[in-house]
Amino acid sequence: MDQNKIILSEKDMPQAWYNILPDLPAPFPPHLHPGTMKPLGPADLAPLFPMELIKQEVSMERFIPIPDDIQRIYKLWRPSPLHRAYRLEKALGTPARIYYKNESVSPAGSHKPNTAVAQAYYNKKEGVTRLATETGAGQWGSALAFACNLFGLKCTVYMVKVSYEQKPYRKIMMQTWGAEVHPSPTTLTNSGKAALQKDPNCPGSLGLAISEAVEDAATHDDTKYSLGSVLNHVLMHQTIVGLEVEKQLKIAKEKPDIMIGCVGGGSNFGGFMMPFVREKMKGRNIRFIAVEPTSCPSLTKGPYIYDYGDVAKLAPIAKMYTLGHGFIPPAIHAGGLRYHGDAPILCLLVNKKLIEAVAYDQKPVFEAALMFARTEGIIPAPETAHAIKAVIDEALKCKASNEAKCIVFNFSGHGHFDLAAYDAYLSGKLEDFPLPEEKIKEALKDVPKVD
Ligand SMILES: *Cc1c(COP(=O)(O)O)cnc(C)c1O
Repeated sequence: MDQNKIILSEKDMPQAWYNILPDLPAPFPPHLHPGTMKPLGPADLAPLFPMELIKQEVSMERFIPIPDDIQRIYKLWRPSPLHRAYRLEKALGTPARIYYKNESVSPAGSHKPNTAVAQAYYNKKEGVTRLATETGAGQWGSALAFACNLFGLKCTVYMVKVSYEQKPYRKIMMQTWGAEVHPSPTTLTNSGKAALQKDPNCPGSLGLAISEAVEDAATHDDTKYSLGSVLNHVLMHQTIVGLEVEKQLKIAKEKPDIMIGCVGGGSNFGGFMMPFVREKMKGRNIRFIAVEPTSCPSLTKGPYIYDYGDVAKLAPIAKMYTLGHGFIPPAIHAGGLRYHGDAPILCLLVNKKLIEAVAYDQKPVFEAALMFARTEGIIPAPETAHAIKAVIDEALKCKASNEAKCIVFNFSGHGHFDLAAYDAYLSGKLEDFPLPEEKIKEALKDVPKVD
């Protein structure tokens, strides 16, 4: 019988995260202070983050041990399975071998608890009693609500309003784990009030919700801020995914030719592929493909420059491919892919041509999601479906050229709380929103001047 899943035992779960900073092909461009535009020091970040995470953000240690208390919680669902997608391969008639790492098995249904648990742990250890954060589609908010609950921390979530309205079940999930959830923009912060004054019907954006959460943390002593993607330490916590995949592929006697993931802020794809960058730099030919929506095409259409992390210019300035911090993307259903920038580590790897980027419209993405659901069974999150669309395209190229490549992708989460999006697709109401060039130019007018 064919082996459908490669499963690691709990004792084979990796015990350290991989930090790519010492192995990058170019020096990491430092984050800058949004006021002074000088490189950020630990003191600048202290109001927002616990010291251990600030250290991890700039650490040059290649491996950072995962504390036992975090490992114990990871084991509620980790190690996650690596599946061979036999039925999808057959439906496509491709000679390619397709594998997917299933991060949908976590309690929150995505990869996000991998960093949420770590962040809650370090905050608790340093005496913090409440975490404030933003969430787009609700996956990050639910992951942090889950993690805070396990460590006895309070959790306040600013949820992008369009998602709050489109996805009520995520809100209930957060509340079930004990979090307080507000549709952003709110009247609770100055950033929220300013946005509502400009446009009372403002649908919100991740950048704006970040401003609200950062302001909340900065103005309360007992509260720190928590970010679900983009930052170096977040990507590092996610490397547990790629490190497990490394072991699982070894068991399957496979070496990946193509590794694919969707990119919102870059954490699931980064954590999945970064451990393999070492092999690529040693000369092994692996293609890494980052997939984003055409409605928020930072990697494929944005310039590589320093930009603010949020609308209100409170979060650090980082060097990244960006559409401008004021950019509010169309209300597509992959809410987790609507951030204006991307993780600086990932951007550096794209800039050095180690990673390719592609963008897709949401209709073909949902078509791919349906094909996956009807062959492999699991209903993917709309974000994950972007990766699946690219996998299908690459597998069809293999069919045309008759090449039996090994394609591995990160199945970042399931779509059980995104069924309204599936309903829209199935009833023919889903629209595409490719972004016109003028809109990109307009949003980029206000980026900071840094050389
Ligand atoms: C949040 C999320 C993403 C996008 O975020 P990244 O930081 O780019 O990983 C992708 N897929 C799922 C299921 C998510 O919840």
